[in-house]
Amino acid sequence: TRDDDFARAWLDVDLGALRHNAGVLRARAGVPLLPMVKANGYGVGAVAVARALGMAFDDQPALADAPWGLGIASLDEAELLREAGCLGRIVCLQPLLPNELVRAHALGVTPALHRAADIARWTTLGAPEALAPYHLSVDTGMARAGIRWDEVDSLRDAMRQAPPQGVFTHFHSADESLASRDEQDGRFADALAVLHDVLPPDVLRHSDNSGAIASRHAGSPGHLARPGIALYAGLFSEELGLQPVVHLRARIIDLRAVHEGESVSYGATWRAPGPRRIATIACGYADGYRRHLSNAGMVLINGVRCPVAGRVTMDMIMVDVTAVDCDLGQVATLLGYDGQDCLTVETVAGLAGVSPYELLVGLTLRVPAVYH
Ligand code: PLP
Repeated sequence: TRDDDFARAWLDVDLGALRHNAGVLRARAGVPLLPMVKANGYGVGAVAVARALGMAFDDQPALADAPWGLGIASLDEAELLREAGCLGRIVCLQPLLPNELVRAHALGVTPALHRAADIARWTTLGAPEALAPYHLSVDTGMARAGIRWDEVDSLRDAMRQAPPQGVFTHFHSADESLASRDEQDGRFADALAVLHDVLPPDVLRHSDNSGAIASRHAGSPGHLARPGIALYAGLFSEELGLQPVVHLRARIIDLRAVHEGESVSYGATWRAPGPRRIATIACGYADGYRRHLSNAGMVLINGVRCPVAGRVTMDMIMVDVTAVDCDLGQVATLLGYDGQDCLTVETVAGLAGVSPYELLVGLTLRVPAVYH
């Protein structure tokens, strides 16, 4: 950590761990990655993630093991990457409204197209002889976006006239149910079979999110895989050997003794069971430290787990530090490694009763990120 740089709370982002995780996922999937960097790279920082993974930037050639492209969910996210100098492929997986396709085209974004009318509109943009790449979205059961797997025969003419660069689907429960994954695999294969003779022979097929990558032992089907959460070690860390990327640190800004029976924080929901030493730490729910961690969270101080005492407040939490030596200004770890111990995203999300996704993307901009 760069202890001296920050007064209250910050994120130490371990880009070496991120690269390690990308390597693990690439090896396990057996195909190039289209990593998801939407929602500001799951809260980690989309531009920093893109650079660390070796994407081409105007001041950095692509690394040999760079991802095939980046996955995003809004054109503002794409614009941020382009403004930062990102030259690589950017695929917007979320449906765009018809009037957004012009902007996608101008930004050099490869859109996922989820409706026949959008394919027709996409073909009108740019020079008539040069169709800009797009990926066809097939819904195989998520029922969120895409053309239903059992209705793709209606696209045969469109596929001939405007051949897609890729065809993909998205799983709803790949991490929970192999049967549901297999059902969606089957529907996707059926859709591809219907379109087989009208799709380009080199069309890129992709389906696997983190859960699907983790669930398969013989690699991902198709040509690309789209991990998100696993890249940031939010899920499957233990089974895949992923390393924590995000370390949330904050300083002790007050230390006090409380007497037996005295309460701490709003609502007086915690009372000292005996004489206790309480540290106030400069991180609260306005930083993304979830209020559900009230009387439930843990923080690491000098490698010792200290329980959150009372309610999480907007800017501060109080923790019981009776069992550990600590001083004003010292750094507490709310997420990630301190010495040998680690509060993983999964652990803290579990204590908060939220999904690891929500915990990561819920870290707010008030917490500056330091990239190592
Ligand atoms: N592909 C699509 C279309 C997505 O929307 C997402 C994220 O939800 C992913 C891949 C990555 O999923 P995960 O973070 O579960 O790996």
